[in-house]
Amino acid sequence: MRIKYLYLLIILITSCTSLSKSKSPSYCSFPENSPYPGGLINYSLNTERKYLEKNLRVKDLEFSICKEQGSPKSLLIPIPLTFEEDRVSIFFSDQLISSIDIESRDYRESRITISNQDFVSPPNAMLERIKEEYSQSISAKNVFNLKKNTSKEMIIPLEGIMSSEYGVKRFINGKPRNRHSGLDIAAAEGSPIFAPLSGKVILAGNFFYKGNVIFIDHGNGLVSSYSHLSKKLVDVNQIITTGDNIGFVGSTGRVTGPHLHWEVYFLGIPINPVIFIKN
Ligand SMILES: [Zn+2]
Repeated sequence: MRIKYLYLLIILITSCTSLSKSKSPSYCSFPENSPYPGGLINYSLNTERKYLEKNLRVKDLEFSICKEQGSPKSLLIPIPLTFEEDRVSIFFSDQLISSIDIESRDYRESRITISNQDFVSPPNAMLERIKEEYSQSISAKNVFNLKKNTSKEMIIPLEGIMSSEYGVKRFINGKPRNRHSGLDIAAAEGSPIFAPLSGKVILAGNFFYKGNVIFIDHGNGLVSSYSHLSKKLVDVNQIITTGDNIGFVGSTGRVTGPHLHWEVYFLGIPINPVIFIKN
């Protein structure tokens, strides 16, 4: 009888092990390689070769090494919108192991009119506040908390109309401004906004340009932000899971109408949020 139970137990343990193995997701193959300014290179390392992390180098760009079961599987290299080189070179111990062509991308122009002059040329009294909020945003987007095998696949945070895509060359009242480093989704005031991926709230405030804003750290150098909310439902240090209602669409800060301005940063660089959504 005892032997029978032992036999059953062995079968159970073996089947559980194989189940967990077959279900274990591949963290390093997503997002897909998107080699263009504003995209992200996902370069799969040759698994037959042994790479010492400290000997891997990418010319001119920041990169992160994605590991699975302790071994390096791919290099993730965010490409800034302003990147002008034709290719990106990857080295191991000063030996070139790959040269990746950068695809060109035509980003359209967008011209908007802002009637509130405070948002066009802010008054001197606001400059200190703007400077402080800018510095808080820079710190938040550069947060790097190392987490083991964190998924990067996101869901859409808001159902609505994409009113301005990432990368657009913006002109406000006829004058050139910074490129659009996020994605705008327009929806009715008060529509719920959902966390596209689990993480921890690292900044929540009311900013001059961004209005009510939330920053979420998803781990391993991936951070996202949500601006112009009518109301925030989460606070700093709060742990959230994918799909949690984090706030509502609004028109706070510098806007022309109610919408969500969604940014995704990898290693501090704002890149196209669309590449983190599957299909
Ligand atoms: Zn925007």
